[in-house]
Amino acid sequence: MRIDVATLFPEMCEAVLSESILGRARKKGCLDVNCWNIRDYTLDKHRRVDDVPYGGGRGMVMQADPIYRCYEAVCAQAQSVPHRIYMSPKGAVLTQQRALELAMMPHIFLLCGHYEGVDQRILDTVIDEEISIGDYVLTGGELPALVLIDTLARMLPGVLPENLCFEEESHFNGLLEYPQYTRPAVWHDQEVPPVLLTGHHKNIAEWRLEQSLAVTRENRPDLYSRYLDKK
Ligand code: SAM
Repeated sequence: MRIDVATLFPEMCEAVLSESILGRARKKGCLDVNCWNIRDYTLDKHRRVDDVPYGGGRGMVMQADPIYRCYEAVCAQAQSVPHRIYMSPKGAVLTQQRALELAMMPHIFLLCGHYEGVDQRILDTVIDEEISIGDYVLTGGELPALVLIDTLARMLPGVLPENLCFEEESHFNGLLEYPQYTRPAVWHDQEVPPVLLTGHHKNIAEWRLEQSLAVTRENRPDLYSRYLDKK
């Protein structure tokens, strides 16, 4: 999968994308991520990429033209038209299901906004969907883009040792994960639930499902009722 990130802060993205599982996925060739500096595509001699909002008001707005020229450079280099996403608090909130669908796409373009956001005309011209990572506002689209890339990357073939690594985790089947324990079996007088020490796979699976249902009902009643409706 190829992902192109259009940003004013490519180094900020690269710092995260070079580390840990994402860094290894890139080295192994499971994930091809390129960060593009929108500022390189301005024609302004001072490399300006923003201007005051029409109609007045606070802050600055990112201009359409440098973003458009950056996007054209991505398409020219990739020789394909990507699925185009603007990271935005006004977008649909990201879910595991949407991430799974996006992880099957061959090429994605992510636009990171800053300041008050971007000129609406660039959204009307080149953006297919807006995605939010939650109902709150951040200073820029880089962290949201990295969140999206991280969640996509771990579902790509070859990134994690096997698909079960993400298929058995919270949200994949609509439930939250059961509690996890590791050694020692007793810590600060607290014992690991005895069933986990039996080696009885069927009983362990049943206990885990019960726990998943209980945690979901307690922590996320909204997910729990959706899960029951689907059943
Ligand atoms: N003025 C915008 C509004 O009220 O909707 C907020 C702009 S925000 C300060 C700057 C940029 O951060 C946005 O253009 C977007 O790219 C990114 N951003 C902020 N919060 C986000 C969120 N929850 N999800 C995705 N992107 C977000």
